[in-house]
Amino acid sequence: MSTHECRGCNARYDAVSWRSLPFVEALGPDESRDVFTEWPWSRDSTLELRRCACGQTVASLESRRASHAA
Ligand SMILES: [Zn+2]
Repeated sequence: MSTHECRGCNARYDAVSWRSLPFVEALGPDESRDVFTEWPWSRDSTLELRRCACGQTVASLESRRASHAA
């Protein structure tokens, strides 16, 4: 079980509470060229961004395949 820490306010979210945050965007290997020169994770993964109460985005790496555990 991973937790996600906000860089803005240091709030910690577990997977369930993180999913309750407002969705911002999801970046995949083909949508992230301006962020990463090379996608550092599996091509089955997307980096999902959600909005913390403080305004910062909190990212989580999500697998597109439910059976695939990172
Ligand atoms: Zn925050």
